[in-house]
Amino acid sequence: MDKTYYFDYNATTPTDPRVVDAMAPFFTEKFHNPSSFYRHAGQAFQAMEAARASVAALLHASAKEIIFTSGGTESDNLAIQGVAAKLKAKGNHLITTKIEHPAVLNTCQHLAKSGFEVTFLPVDRVGMVDPDALRQSIRPATILVSIMHANNEIGTIQPLKELIAITHEKGALFHSDAVQSTGKLPINVKDLDIDLLSFSSHKIYGPKGMGVLYVKSGVKLEPLLFGGGHERGLRSGTENVPGIIGLGKAAELAGQEMAAEEKRLRPLRDRLETEFRRIIPDIMVNGDTRQRLYNTLNLSIRFIEGEAMLGYLDQHGLALSSGSACSAKSLEPSHVLLAIGLSHEDAHGSLRISLGKYNQPADVDKLIEVLPPIVEKLRSMSPFWKKK
Ligand code: PLP
Repeated sequence: MDKTYYFDYNATTPTDPRVVDAMAPFFTEKFHNPSSFYRHAGQAFQAMEAARASVAALLHASAKEIIFTSGGTESDNLAIQGVAAKLKAKGNHLITTKIEHPAVLNTCQHLAKSGFEVTFLPVDRVGMVDPDALRQSIRPATILVSIMHANNEIGTIQPLKELIAITHEKGALFHSDAVQSTGKLPINVKDLDIDLLSFSSHKIYGPKGMGVLYVKSGVKLEPLLFGGGHERGLRSGTENVPGIIGLGKAAELAGQEMAAEEKRLRPLRDRLETEFRRIIPDIMVNGDTRQRLYNTLNLSIRFIEGEAMLGYLDQHGLALSSGSACSAKSLEPSHVLLAIGLSHEDAHGSLRISLGKYNQPADVDKLIEVLPPIVEKLRSMSPFWKKK
């Protein structure tokens, strides 16, 4: 197969071979149900609990605060719907932002159809939430604030600690979708004093179909799924033991390797940014260049259709996204880019480059070599560019 150059790590990551090795025996000889009575089942249970401890260590949580789910989407749903159902007698108001992942946005929209009121906070030009706007939006009926840690499209990192303190002053709970930051940035749930935090295994080189909801000790939720009462009654169903073992291993590796990865990837991302700013006229960098994921670069390349650019890049073996590949394929401009004030045209001309574990300097050289001529070619066909 031709070499492919993968620059879409925010969409998903390959499972680390060390994770695959750790999982393998749990499909075959160690297949037992951790809830069963015999010795082998006890071993499966112990392995699962060791994985829970590894995940807890990554977040500085205690193991009993870790609930395994099927992914980031389920964790977001469990946090938001779980609090809404539990606290509906206390209040019916939720706060989130306009730039959340659809797993949060659509869950809130769903609740808004059944008696809840939802405030969708705006963000500024670089995607930051204004802490004062949050303070002013909290009412006596507010039960939950859900604000993502780092944005999947533009990489902007919110000041979670400050936002959590404001929320707690007013007596509400705080959830964060930390799907894009977990495994990339150190997270300490105790220091943040956060109530609920979601993340996903397939973004940290673990298997797909696994996720985590951190639930601070003492925080009460209603489950989404009813059954045998697994996961402290919050997520019934026989545990996905191989997935849990894989996620545990991925969490352990992320804890060990994330600082070195930051050192390696930040200069590669910065080089792409500097070179593209130098070579390609009329581009904009989206997101907060000071508070941004070190692996993410979102560009608006004016007078170009993002999809056409992706097609040409694909012909050269380069895999990237425009807008967000996390949501179903859609020609709607990205809601995140519109929320930071981009025009429909500029949002359509966006390109998201997200780097990860297997990117080497030569991959970055390739992208720097291939993208500018594609931009030139597409612009030469654009009536808007010609008119300029
Ligand atoms: N939240 C964010 C910020 C994401 O980027 C994603 C990506 O898909 C999700 C939630 C959903 O996670 P999952 O794919 O594990 O359901």
